Amino acid sequence: LTEATTEPHCVFSAKDFSSGAHPVWCPGCGDYGVLASLERALAKHGRPSHEVVLVSGIGCSSRLPGYMSTYGFHGVHGRALAAATGLKLTRPDLEVIVVGGDGDGYSIGGNHFIHACRRNVDMLYIVMDNRVYGMTKGQPSPTTEADWDSEIAPGGIGLRPFNPLAVAIASGANYVARGFSGDPNGLADLIVDGLRWPGFAFLEVLSPCVTFRPEQREWKRMVRPASQAIEQDRAAATALAMGDDGFSLGVLFRGDRAPVAPAPKPQISVADVEREFALSP
Ligand code: SF4
Ligand code: MG
Repeated sequence: LTEATTEPHCVFSAKDFSSGAHPVWCPGCGDYGVLASLERALAKHGRPSHEVVLVSGIGCSSRLPGYMSTYGFHGVHGRALAAATGLKLTRPDLEVIVVGGDGDGYSIGGNHFIHACRRNVDMLYIVMDNRVYGMTKGQPSPTTEADWDSEIAPGGIGLRPFNPLAVAIASGANYVARGFSGDPNGLADLIVDGLRWPGFAFLEVLSPCVTFRPEQREWKRMVRPASQAIEQDRAAATALAMGDDGFSLGVLFRGDRAPVAPAPKPQISVADVEREFALSP
């Protein structure tokens, strides 16, 4: 990556952020709406695509960086936040956005999620939550309802679902919101808001998997605006998220933590590296 420019930003359109590649998602998948909202949001945000990096893990939604004209890093399962943290700390001039799904982010990547909230590095994490593992054919994920009946889990898994918003707020995230893929304007506004809020911004997006959870098409009738955005009072916001039914849309919490400082530039020269290698067997 080259150094990002500091030139005055010109006007962009959503199309400027599309790679032109045709997504392989199933027709009707919610992730199309998230992709369109992200393109729209970046156009509004005003930074050129070469100053933006999308980092993802594994899963249907983690394919998203390939569909955009920004830089992208399609990493290993659950590790997107770790890669993005290193990138942002060494290149604070870049806009770093992490994207992925509920299986990737809350199960194998769950530990990184908690500690990314705690570290509060200045970036945006978008989770496309469909409460199922779509790419591997419909297994229950950490956010699947306890009684969701399927061929893979007859009668349901009987486990209390993970509450990502409450975990994020309690763990230290500085901005926490929920959007819906079927509300592209509202979602684009939340993306811009999260990008511009300092620190670690977490945006959970309800994004239906129409193939393995066709009943999620009904989400468009279940979502509603969140009653309030809580500023700074982390205990009250955690309690709000704990009592939430998972369908309120908007900002739930904005904090006032200062983002972690970028890593200092390494004081190492080419001669130092050559000397080090010359000493190695
Ligand atoms: Fe989308 Fe589900 Fe198809 Fe994956 S399996 S592309 S999440 S609809
Ligand atoms: Mg999923």
